[in-house]
Amino acid sequence: MPRYKAPVRDMQFILHDVLSLQNYSYLPGFSDASPDLIDQILEGGAKFAEDVLFPLNYSGDKEGCKRNPDATVKTPDGFPAAYEQLVDAEWLSLSADPKYGGQGLPGVVNIAINEMQSSSNMAFSMYPGLTHGAYQALLAGGSEEQKQTYVTKMINGKWSGTMNLTEPQCGTDLGLIKTKAVPQADGSYKITGQKIWISGGEQDLSENIIHLVLARIEGGPEGIKGISLFVVPKFIPDADGNPGERNALECGGLEEKMGIHGNATCVMNYDGATGWLVGEEHKGMRTMFVMMNEARLGVGMQGLAQAEIAYQNAADFARDRLQSRALSGPAAPEKPADPIIVHPDVRRMLMDSRAFTEGARAFMFWTALYGDLLHKSPDDAVRQKAGDYMALMTPVVKAFLTDIGFKTTSECLQLHGGIGYTQEMGVEQYMRDARIAMIYEGTNGIQALDLVGRKLAANGGRAIFTFFKEMDDFVGENADNSDMKLFTDALSDAKKKLEAGTTWLMQNGLSNFNNAAAASTDYVHLFGYTAMAYMWAMMAKTALEKDDGSDPYYANKLKTARYYMERVLPKAGSHLDMLKAGAESMMALEADAF
Ligand SMILES: Cc1cc2nc3c(=O)[nH]c(=O)nc-3n(C[C@H](O)[C@H](O)[C@H](O)COP(=O)(O)OP(=O)(O)OC[C@H]3O[C@@H](n4cnc5c(N)ncnc54)[C@H](O)[C@@H]3O)c2cc1C
Repeated sequence: MPRYKAPVRDMQFILHDVLSLQNYSYLPGFSDASPDLIDQILEGGAKFAEDVLFPLNYSGDKEGCKRNPDATVKTPDGFPAAYEQLVDAEWLSLSADPKYGGQGLPGVVNIAINEMQSSSNMAFSMYPGLTHGAYQALLAGGSEEQKQTYVTKMINGKWSGTMNLTEPQCGTDLGLIKTKAVPQADGSYKITGQKIWISGGEQDLSENIIHLVLARIEGGPEGIKGISLFVVPKFIPDADGNPGERNALECGGLEEKMGIHGNATCVMNYDGATGWLVGEEHKGMRTMFVMMNEARLGVGMQGLAQAEIAYQNAADFARDRLQSRALSGPAAPEKPADPIIVHPDVRRMLMDSRAFTEGARAFMFWTALYGDLLHKSPDDAVRQKAGDYMALMTPVVKAFLTDIGFKTTSECLQLHGGIGYTQEMGVEQYMRDARIAMIYEGTNGIQALDLVGRKLAANGGRAIFTFFKEMDDFVGENADNSDMKLFTDALSDAKKKLEAGTTWLMQNGLSNFNNAAAASTDYVHLFGYTAMAYMWAMMAKTALEKDDGSDPYYANKLKTARYYMERVLPKAGSHLDMLKAGAESMMALEADAF
C-alpha cells in the first residue's frame, strides 16, 4: 500500500537555513513566525496531511463525485468531515489578511502546507486552493462591501470560491467569451451563459459557493477588452450576511475525467443569475489575473507535490523488490536476489526524481518568499524586484514544475515495473492526477508564450537582467571556496546558456514572431533547469556550512546537488540547441500533410 510522509526536514532546511526567514522579522507577520512556531505549523500540517487527507486519496479516486438529480453534488465519503477539520483547524486562514480574519503569517509557510495537502490528496486540496485564489482576486479588485461580505467567510473556509472562465467555444482565447451580463436598475447584473470544467463548481463541503465569473456586459466592446468580472454567489447573502435566496445557477453535469476524481469538475449553467461587478466594467481580466497568477503558482506546486509522493513510494519499492544481482557482486547474498535499488538504472530514476523534487521545492519556496516581499516590504526597490521576479518566475514555476513533475511520476511508475501500471501501488493515480496540471490555468504552451512574449521584454528586460546579475554575484562571492567549485562552475555555465538563449530570442524573435513562439517551450525548460541550478548551488553552500558530520542529511544534500549538476543540468544545453534551430523545420509541412 502507498504511504506519504510530509518532507518536514527538507522544508525546515529551506525555510530556516537557505532562505533564513528569521532575517525578515521586520515584515508584518514574519515577526510572529519564529522558527519554533514554523516548526509547529509544519508538524501540525504534516499530521493533517498524513492522517486525515492521505487516507482519503485512494478511496476518493475510486469513488469520485456524483451529481444528484436535484443538481447537488456529493463529494467522496470522508471529504465533508475532512473539510470540516480543515476549517476548524484554520488551515485556510494561515497567511490570509488579518483585516478579514486571517492569521497573517508568511505566504511561504502556507506554501509548505499546500504542498503537503496537494501530495496527500490533490483532488481534495483543490477545493481550498481555489477559494484562496478567489478571495485574493476579491481583495485586489472588490469593493470594501464585497470584501466584508465574502472575503471574511471565504478566509475561514465556511464559504468557498471558484473561477469561471472556460466556455465550450472558449479556452485559451478568452476574447471568445459569450456569457452575458445585463445591468439591472438596482446596480446588480443578470448573468446568463454556460461555463464548463469549473473545479468545485458544486460540492457538499461549504455552506455557500462564491463564483467569480467572466462575462461580457451587453453592448460592451468585442474581444478581450469587453470582459468584466462578476461575483455570483450560489446563495445570495441576506441582510445579516448569511446564505439567503438561492441564485439562478446550477451544476448541469460532471465531467468524467482521467484523474482528480475527488474534485468535482462541473458544467455551470447561469440562467439570469444575480451577480455584482468586481472592479471596473470591461476590466475584468486585470482582476482575474490576480487569481490566475496565484493559481498558477499553486498549480506549479501540484507538479512538485505529485512527484514527491511518487518518489517516496518508488524509493520504498526499490528497497523492497528483489530482482537480479548487483553487477558489483551480491549485495544481499542471504536473499534470493538483490533489491533493485542496487541497479544503476533504478538509481537513475530515483536520483532524477529526488534532484527534481528537492530543487523544485527550493524554487517554489524562493519564489513564494518574493510574493511576501511584494506585498509586505516597506522598501520600494525590494517591492519592485519582487514584482519583477514574481512576473518572470510564475510561468516558469507553472510550466517547468508541472512538465517535469509529470515526467517524474512517470519515471516512478516505471521504477515499479508492471505493478506500477496496476492500481495496487497508487503511483498510477499520482501520474493521472499530475497530468491535468500541465493543461489548466493556461496550458504550458501558453505559459511559455507568456514568458517569451511578455515577461522577458517587460521594463526593457529588467527582471531577467537582475536575475543574471544575481547568479553572477553568487558565483563571484563563492569564487574562493574550492568546495563550491563544482556547483558554481555548473551554475555559471548554465547561466551563460540562458543568456545565450535570451539573446537569440531578442535577435531572432522580434523579426520573426514564429521563431519566438517555436523557441518558447525550450526556453522555459532552459530557464527552469538554470533556476534549479541556482537553487541547488545555494542549497549546497548552506549544506557545506552546516555539515559537521553529525547529520547525514547535509551529506545527502551535497550528493544530490552533485548529481543535479552532473546528470540533470546538461539538459539545459540541448534545450538551447533546439531553440536556436528556429521555426523553419517546425512550420515546414503544409497543414493538410499531417
Ligand atoms: C479538470 C479540469 C479542471 C478545470 N478547471 C477549470 C476551472 O476551475 N475554471 C475554468 O475556467 N477552467 C477550468 N478548466 C479549463 C482549462 O483551464 C482549459 O482546459 C485550458 O485553459 C485550455 O483551454 P482548452 O481546453 O479550451 O484548450 P484550447 O484553448 O482549445 O487549446 C488546445 C491546444 O492548443 C494550444 N493553443 C491554443 N492557442 C494557442 C496559441 N495561441 N499558441 C500556441 N498554442 C495554442 C493549447 O496550448 C492546447 O495545447 C479546467 C479543465 C480541466 C480539464
